[in-house]
Amino acid sequence: MMIKGHDMTTKPLIFTDIDGTLLDHFDYSFSDAIEVIEALNERHIPIIANTSKTFAEMEKLQQTFGFNSPFISENGAVIYIPIGYFSQQPQDTLTQGYYWVKEFCQPRQYWLELLHQHAQAFNDNFIGFSSLSVEELCEVTDLSPDNATLALVRHYGEPLLWQGDDVSKQAFIELMASVGAHTLQGGRFLHVGGDTDKGKAMQWLAAVYAEQYGTLVSTIALGDSGNDNAMLEAADIAIQIKSPVHPFPLLTTKNPSIKSSEYGPKGWAECIKQTLLSSSETSSVLAELAVSQPSFGGA
Ligand SMILES: [Mg+2]
Repeated sequence: MMIKGHDMTTKPLIFTDIDGTLLDHFDYSFSDAIEVIEALNERHIPIIANTSKTFAEMEKLQQTFGFNSPFISENGAVIYIPIGYFSQQPQDTLTQGYYWVKEFCQPRQYWLELLHQHAQAFNDNFIGFSSLSVEELCEVTDLSPDNATLALVRHYGEPLLWQGDDVSKQAFIELMASVGAHTLQGGRFLHVGGDTDKGKAMQWLAAVYAEQYGTLVSTIALGDSGNDNAMLEAADIAIQIKSPVHPFPLLTTKNPSIKSSEYGPKGWAECIKQTLLSSSETSSVLAELAVSQPSFGGA
């Protein structure tokens, strides 16, 4: 238990994108980051995945990473917190299986019905995930059949593979906006869903940490793509991870920001070392903060 007024330290929280950030863009490996992950675990600094991936994909990955922290899924649409992770169930969450769940938008069925009702005129221009087979998804992504199966189980929105031209795409995006749907262009898919983003979800969860631990928190966010900008711009420290397939997205933030010189997980490790784990005061933004961390149990 924290004693109020005594030694008000700041707890660092790491929010990280997965694809192309903690996982290598090409081979999905994270071996270059393992050493740094272990160093963070020793310091009880939580690593929170913040990704477009589904619950099914993330539950499997959490085990692979050895994480028992909460994770944010489907581009900020939902947060899964392992039951008991905090001493009290956070407000405004429901209990589902082994998790406390915070939802930020309507379920997928709502968006499927909306598409069905309003987007018939565009039916020849896109293929939705709901009508893609595992084999077809494997063809348009580099996913294995097992992982494609997990990727198809979405709960909060519908990704579309756009096949029409840009003019019809723009008309479709405007139509969706007029009926209350939000669209987000990802690497391969146009996502239709609620007005959610990785930044809003991060801020909600950071506030829960602050309340539960009775301490100040500091958010450190890592991402490689444009869909990470909302998270990076809302973070206290933004870390842009270099991508082998596109330039750094333009970022507007008043807070400190860093660009990695290495790609993916190697860049992830490089920048975390620089900001949190460096023993040299001059090269570290948060070294002092990390050293002054008391041990946070339960996390
Ligand atoms: Mg990414």
